[in-house]
Amino acid sequence: MPREEVVACLEQLASRVPVRTGTRVINIVRDKCGDYEVAIAGGGTIKARNVVVATGLYQTPKIPRLARDFPAAIKQLHSDTYRNPQQLLPGAVLVVGSAQSGAQIAEELYESGRKVYLATGRAGRTPRRYRGRDANWWFARMGQYDRKASELPSPEAKFAGKPHISGTKGGHTINLHQFARDGVTLLGRLASAENGIVKLKGDLHDNLAAADRAEAEFVKAVDAYVAANGMAVPEESLPVLCDGFDQKILTELDLSAAGITNVIWATGYSFDFSMIRLPVTDSDGFPIQTRGVTAFPGLFFVGLPWLHTAKSGLIYGLSEDAHYVADRIAERRDASDDGLPTEIVPQNASPALKQSRATRTWADRVMALIWSSALSLMLDGFAGHAAGIHPAAPDNPSHQSDSAIPPIDATPRQR
Ligand SMILES: Cc1cc2nc3c(=O)[nH]c(=O)nc-3n(C[C@H](O)[C@H](O)[C@H](O)COP(=O)(O)OP(=O)(O)OC[C@H]3O[C@@H](n4cnc5c(N)ncnc54)[C@H](O)[C@@H]3O)c2cc1C
Repeated sequence: MPREEVVACLEQLASRVPVRTGTRVINIVRDKCGDYEVAIAGGGTIKARNVVVATGLYQTPKIPRLARDFPAAIKQLHSDTYRNPQQLLPGAVLVVGSAQSGAQIAEELYESGRKVYLATGRAGRTPRRYRGRDANWWFARMGQYDRKASELPSPEAKFAGKPHISGTKGGHTINLHQFARDGVTLLGRLASAENGIVKLKGDLHDNLAAADRAEAEFVKAVDAYVAANGMAVPEESLPVLCDGFDQKILTELDLSAAGITNVIWATGYSFDFSMIRLPVTDSDGFPIQTRGVTAFPGLFFVGLPWLHTAKSGLIYGLSEDAHYVADRIAERRDASDDGLPTEIVPQNASPALKQSRATRTWADRVMALIWSSALSLMLDGFAGHAAGIHPAAPDNPSHQSDSAIPPIDATPRQR
């Protein structure tokens, strides 16, 4: 789907449900009865029996501390606010970070005529198409999107940068070696900055090798899957480029001598669930939950990468998780004939507590039902189209999404 269609689709869906925009939640507490009090910035509280936290993981643009050590004359922005090359000052651009956003922005900038320096990291590379199909078609077909968080090599792996790939111009592969061939200066990670001199780590070749390895693992996984399933698809050999390895490993960069007047931080996002005043996150700050359901009755999460599976943080996948959570909310609604969850109304509850329960308005209960139904409707209608890999459409190779997922499990799966 082109961007305009995604936006129109969301706007249309939002017009069908009572979305209240511009309402920032600053505090969520659980009251004595087990319900939630949700405080809104600027004043006001919403009482809720169920709270679904769907604030995403891409909350606050993350910019490293060393950004403060760059000369004041240099224009700095995060990929979050980057829109087009015209936003920038005349001159060269240092793009920091080579995962999906950084690689796509670097490409757009050098194609627009800018001199680009790209500080690379360990993100992998996925070919846009292989053996006649889009990479996401293969990922879906091989069951990669259904992998569970527990199958990851480490808990931190769920925060890994997405591989180089692009959805622009009909979708194409992004290859850092091609960047080198086209005149981009590739760098290792930034270590420090002082007096206009940036110190660099000497890890450029390791980073390039990591990207090449990711592609090789993808190819191996697809080939094994094709063989195991006797699929009739064309043979393909991907181009082998090595130009990045020919570039000298720089250990420092003089910004002024390089003509760099702009820095774009494509360094990801941080997240923070501290507004929820309950011990609901782990040591990484990630919600402790099982398929979006927390240990606190009525408190749920949806829309986070690896919440349940590899696709939980994608438009393509969050529908399944949302359905699951909506069903749990409906169960709570149905748990007692007064519509109140039995687990938060103990048998020996005080008369005052029982009274407070009995006088709860029907509006609360009806709203919970409307919300869960509306959410299901929204996601049913939108998810597959947005990600372009609806189960009904895997045979259409023109559907493309940028969100191919690392790392590959090379073991072929039968689906
Ligand atoms: C660069 C990029 C590219 C992507 N490409 C794809 C793709 O090609 N295909 C795909 O399927 N997915 C893609 N995704 C993932 C996709 O964006 C997410 O799956 C989707 O946005 C998740 O939806 P969500 O509503 O759960 O969260 P979000 O879209 O992150 O929305 C969270 C909402 O919560 C609001 N919020 C946050 N804190 C508060 C608060 N305290 N109070 C009130 N509101 C709050 C925010 O303002 C925001 O409106 C991409 C993501 C990124 C960052």
